[in-house]
Amino acid sequence: MKALVKTDAGPGLGLIDVPEPPMTINDVRIRVRKTGICGTDLHIADWDAWAQKTIQPPLVVGHEFVGEVLEVGSNVTDLSPGDIVSGEGHVICGTCRHCRAGRWHLCANTVGLGVQRDGAFAEQVVLPVTNVWHHWPGIDEDVAAVFDPFGNAVHTALAFPVLGEDVLVVGAGPIGLMATAVARHAGARYIVVSDPNGFRRGLAEQMGATIVVDPRARTLADVQGELGMVEGFDVVLEMSGNPDALRDALANMAHGAGMAILGIPTEDIAIDMSRVVFDQLTLRGIYGREMYETWYQMSVMLQSGLDLTPAITHRFSFREHEAAFAAARGGESGKVIMDWTA
Ligand code: NAD
Ligand code: ZN
Repeated sequence: MKALVKTDAGPGLGLIDVPEPPMTINDVRIRVRKTGICGTDLHIADWDAWAQKTIQPPLVVGHEFVGEVLEVGSNVTDLSPGDIVSGEGHVICGTCRHCRAGRWHLCANTVGLGVQRDGAFAEQVVLPVTNVWHHWPGIDEDVAAVFDPFGNAVHTALAFPVLGEDVLVVGAGPIGLMATAVARHAGARYIVVSDPNGFRRGLAEQMGATIVVDPRARTLADVQGELGMVEGFDVVLEMSGNPDALRDALANMAHGAGMAILGIPTEDIAIDMSRVVFDQLTLRGIYGREMYETWYQMSVMLQSGLDLTPAITHRFSFREHEAAFAAARGGESGKVIMDWTA
């Protein structure tokens, strides 16, 4: 089969022929139909410092996908060939303390699809049945392809109650954009989205932002004034990984507010901890999705009218993977999809 592979320890990816992945009695073999490009895939392609210490070539990359079930192992009774599915990219150990307690998203030994095991940028992918999410027939396949980052957005946006609250979304990358739509769907009052990237601020408006801000041009205090807010944001969704942005958000939170932090910083971030203490703030890190409550929430929010389609801006055949990666890297994009059937 064709697959996009990190063949050697160095920059680049190769579209090459590899053997079909083996499977066990608990696995599901999936014909990949569409995939989404994540920042992680860009790091692996670029062979940055994180990739150099994390990735062991050869590796099939990619973890955001939708596909059709081809074959199920003999222990699998609840899926059949032809079912349309996506996959949770965190494969858990099943035996650590949290796994045994059913808190799978806190597994101490998570293995990442397309990071520590062969991934989904291929004509076929194999996953344990417990990682497979069954979609309803007729789901928009572009949206189904991005359930993994959509799940990051949902897990973060719903980490604190947002009904009636004033929400600050820091960073309008694909995940910040989806989180904006989720906060709107979940009943937030004001949603302020901050990003220096003008193209992405435009997308944030389409996703339901009340006001978009260029943090270089306007302060959050000024935005609060325009909206008539007096006590600060109730909920912050940190989706940039940027130190200045995080500190700025911290300085604009209401007493008792919560910050859900998804953005991955590339350096240590110094913060005013006395503010966390005196304002009684909660800072909560978010990694991945809650298995499988987040997946349930994603499906039912789409079925009750949540629209993610403005956040999906580019579509390519897998044969044009270089152009697809360039679009994802360029910044004038939301989510970029590669089609593995065309
Ligand atoms: P992205 O890099 O496309 O988006 C980040 C956005 O932040 C960009 O649009 C950028 O312009 C913006 N930004 C930069 N400086 C800013 C500033 N000072 N103020 C406001 N915005 C600023 O990434 P993404 O795919 O949307 O992911 C969002 C973040 O979440 C990234 O940091 C990513 O590494 C991280 N992530 C975490 C997990 C997890 O499980 N914790 C999973 C996936 C991604
Ligand atoms: Zn575990």
